[in-house]
Amino acid sequence: IISGKVVSQAKREELKNRVAQLNVQGTEVGLAVIIVGNNSASRVYVNNKKKGCEEIGVNSYEYALPEETSQSELLELIEKLNGDDKVDGILCQLPLPAHIDEQAVINSINPQKDVDAFHPFNVGHIMIGDYTFLPCTPAGVMEMLKFYNISVKGKKCVVIGRSNIVGKPMAMLLLKENGTVEICHSGTANLKAECLGADVLVAAVGKAGFVTADMVKEGAVVIDVGINRGADGRLCGDVCFDEVEKKASFITPVPGGVGPMTITMLLE
Ligand code: NAD
Repeated sequence: IISGKVVSQAKREELKNRVAQLNVQGTEVGLAVIIVGNNSASRVYVNNKKKGCEEIGVNSYEYALPEETSQSELLELIEKLNGDDKVDGILCQLPLPAHIDEQAVINSINPQKDVDAFHPFNVGHIMIGDYTFLPCTPAGVMEMLKFYNISVKGKKCVVIGRSNIVGKPMAMLLLKENGTVEICHSGTANLKAECLGADVLVAAVGKAGFVTADMVKEGAVVIDVGINRGADGRLCGDVCFDEVEKKASFITPVPGGVGPMTITMLLE
């Protein structure tokens, strides 16, 4: 079992020391977190990000704006934070209310403070394999593989999902580590056959029970990014854990797998 809790804890210890060192040198580290509206899942994420900052000694500045905030008001705030020396990172929690253009907001964040790595400047750097910031979830997956000494070099890696925040950057990071990478998606013909060829299978679909044992090669490394509610109301991933675990050499559980890594990588 690849435990995101174990890797995350080790990483946070390392980060705490790094922040302490910066503090000794007279440098404080600050993250600005913007949340617009009353999305309850977003509120939980923002609280956890603030808690994570506290734990490692990073200052966090929360900007909780009402649902009816206009796009220009939000852009004005970001502009102010772009120029604020106390703020090293700016994060605008998505999704935003429908009247705000998300891409315009992402584009307005100074790329040097874009800790989510969603700005096209940083996305471009990920494409050329030369980056400062990485999207947290795929970065967390790579950190877990590294921690467990799992090399993807020369391996066939199949990523199911092509979103901008998970699937696409995930594929780029596996490629950088010399995996032979294939991206599958809702338009893929014969998904099962593609998955059966995978030495490393990453599921980022968002559908409970999507990856079944008959789609997984014996001995494959299986990474489950999905966060779903099962029919019983419990948190579960995209992978049928109980049956796939028997075939996989390594597997991430949900909860306790990729999830705990995401905020840790944001802190990094
Ligand atoms: P998304 O909805 O943007 O993308 C889902 C992808 O799945 C799409 O690219 C689509 O092509 C693919 N897909 C859908 N149906 C398919 C099918 N039948 N066959 C093959 N591919 C299919 O979702 P996302 O933002 O990439 O997130 C994916 C999952 O990961 C969600 O469950 C989300 O909650 C979870 N997630 C977890 C974390 C974490 O911290 N662990 C972070 C981000 C997202």
